[in-house]
Amino acid sequence: MTNRKRLQSDEKALGMNSEITRRDFLGSTLLASGAALLDGFSPAQLLAESDEFTGYGGVGEYSRSNGNTLEVLQAGHRMRDGAYRPLPADVVDTGEVYDCVIVGGGISGLTAALAFLRQAGPKSSVLILENHPIFGGEAKQNEFLVDGKKLVAHQGSAIYQVPYPHSFIARFYDSIGLHEPKLNYQEWAGSEPAMTLGRTPYDSAGLGRGEYGLWFGEKFGQRKGLWLIDPVGKEMRGVPVSENARKELLRWFSGKAAEEAKFERPKYEGDAASRKLDAISLEQHYIDHFGMSRETIRRYLSPVEGGGSGLGPDALSAYNDYAWELLHPLDDGSGDMVQMFPGGNTTIARLLVKTLIPDAIEGPAGVEGVSRGRVKFEALDVAGAGARIRLSATTVFVRHDGDPAKAEFVNIAYALGGKVFRVKARSAVMAGGSWTTRHIVEDLPGEHREAYAQFYRSPCMMANVAMRNWRFLHKMGISGCRWFEGVGNYMDVCRQAVVGGNDPGIGPDSPVVLAVKVLYSYPGLSTAEQGHRGRGEMLATSFRDYERRIREQFTLMFEAAGFDAKRDIAGIVLNRWGHAYLSPQPGFFFGKEGQSAPRETLRRAPFGRIAFANTDLAGAMDHRYSILEAQRAVDQLMDQVLRS
Ligand SMILES: Cc1cc2nc3c(=O)[nH]c(=O)nc-3n(C[C@H](O)[C@H](O)[C@H](O)COP(=O)(O)OP(=O)(O)OC[C@H]3O[C@@H](n4cnc5c(N)ncnc54)[C@H](O)[C@@H]3O)c2cc1C
Repeated sequence: MTNRKRLQSDEKALGMNSEITRRDFLGSTLLASGAALLDGFSPAQLLAESDEFTGYGGVGEYSRSNGNTLEVLQAGHRMRDGAYRPLPADVVDTGEVYDCVIVGGGISGLTAALAFLRQAGPKSSVLILENHPIFGGEAKQNEFLVDGKKLVAHQGSAIYQVPYPHSFIARFYDSIGLHEPKLNYQEWAGSEPAMTLGRTPYDSAGLGRGEYGLWFGEKFGQRKGLWLIDPVGKEMRGVPVSENARKELLRWFSGKAAEEAKFERPKYEGDAASRKLDAISLEQHYIDHFGMSRETIRRYLSPVEGGGSGLGPDALSAYNDYAWELLHPLDDGSGDMVQMFPGGNTTIARLLVKTLIPDAIEGPAGVEGVSRGRVKFEALDVAGAGARIRLSATTVFVRHDGDPAKAEFVNIAYALGGKVFRVKARSAVMAGGSWTTRHIVEDLPGEHREAYAQFYRSPCMMANVAMRNWRFLHKMGISGCRWFEGVGNYMDVCRQAVVGGNDPGIGPDSPVVLAVKVLYSYPGLSTAEQGHRGRGEMLATSFRDYERRIREQFTLMFEAAGFDAKRDIAGIVLNRWGHAYLSPQPGFFFGKEGQSAPRETLRRAPFGRIAFANTDLAGAMDHRYSILEAQRAVDQLMDQVLRS
């Protein structure tokens, strides 16, 4: 019997019935992963009976909002499937009229609200409609209580960079209370010599220091699993791959492939170099300029090297890998560019909310204040307030009140608690993302629809695994690792920023959360097909099934180092994002064959009284673009729509 088979038949050894993750739902429906399950069909309905979909949500304010919960997903699918076309006869007219209604309470929607109030003045009114039980969009966190300690981890949006001091982003950060973008991080507190730990789960910090491992299992003929610790130092000797793959992987992991790559780097968005890159796939770029073979890329590097955009490099524009650099992040003086709060960009969303509605989070303004303060949900949506945030409200209908060229209002309807409500607005910002905007703006012109049809979003699941300690990794001499089969691909122990009362030190006996990002790539299929298939697989798999796979994967890899799933795993939260990433195909950024890029149709000008935001309009998944797109949308409304 293989190791995996043995574990599959021994759920007790995996700790499947331990209290903290099994919570209070029983009776799982184990469904086969569904390659054939496409968007029109909702396998999640089959998981609904015992909410085997959402699973455990951790503790605290985010415990009912881990990724797209079943409730959010079902409301979204009802909207997509036309349940509100036409609006039901019993729609409740609230009688409310706002200067601006914003769809989506992620960083883009929150920024749009703030920009609108700042520009239109304190007497103006904005309403944000957000479909999750808490604001933040992909910038949310999970909280765990492990042996009396609160642990925080990101659900999606994670890192930010120190901006140039006079840039718009620097001034914006400062205006919401992020005065010191450079954070302080935990120091080594173990009794043993310090290990190299990164600041984010993306750093692979131990790789260059020999404190990193690659694991090969049954897929590579390794019945018991084979570890290569310090793959670069050992020149990848002994790995069960072909000689060519070994050489290429060594060049890749040692950083030589990137160092020696010969191509012109873009200097600003839209220059000749960026257009050249946008004309080819990221995979082609790696083949042409990094000297990698297609086989090595598809077999070992996809989907991790997809530039953080969900799919593998074969489906993405090569420019995607460079888009973020062109916002010119600064080295923070320590040689490091990236910063990360314990819950990722959740803190940025909370700073935005605190600035918008000071009463909404208890305590003082600023990073420490919003990290420690409790959200006062009752203060988010108060009659007469300039800014209001209405949660668990899925917008299902947006349409001008008459001819878009002349209408004075936009009608907006949302579903909340089984009822549909209608409000009016003098203007609207669609900040929810391409995948919902295209369904809900009823009078959207054909040109805009065609543009949105070229936006492909792909799924991602962030599985946060709370560990009582990470001594088993320390024993192996690694702080991070990568694997090529089973669930997930990589993980890293991080030194967290010291914010919100967490421990200033970290050692092998510290409880930590290991973030396992699950991506769904099927190299060779089209961008759209890869997204559909991945969503089908992610939505059809129960919490229990994923939990078992994660416990099994960890046991296979770490059992020999003393890991015991039953004892060491303190909790698992799954954050499923059905439309996590915009995955820009070649030509997305600057257009094909002399045609303008689809995103330009949506950014160029408002449609009537409706402007468009969300990071996906930039093509790059980055909260700075969420901010910039929101600011642009509000500027357009102020100058072109609400001028009088
Ligand atoms: C897994 C993952 C990791 C990421 N990591 C990073 C990172 O490290 N750094 C970084 O800068 N960026 C990262 N990003 C990119 C992330 O998209 C942005 O940082 C940012 O959080 C996006 O904000 P947004 O407001 O543009 O979109 P979103 O966060 O998607 O917000 C849109 C909100 O609108 C809601 N909505 C949509 N339709 C409706 C409707 N009809 N009615 C009501 N509400 C609606 C959505 O559910 C969502 O809550 C990551 C993204 C993912 C998925």
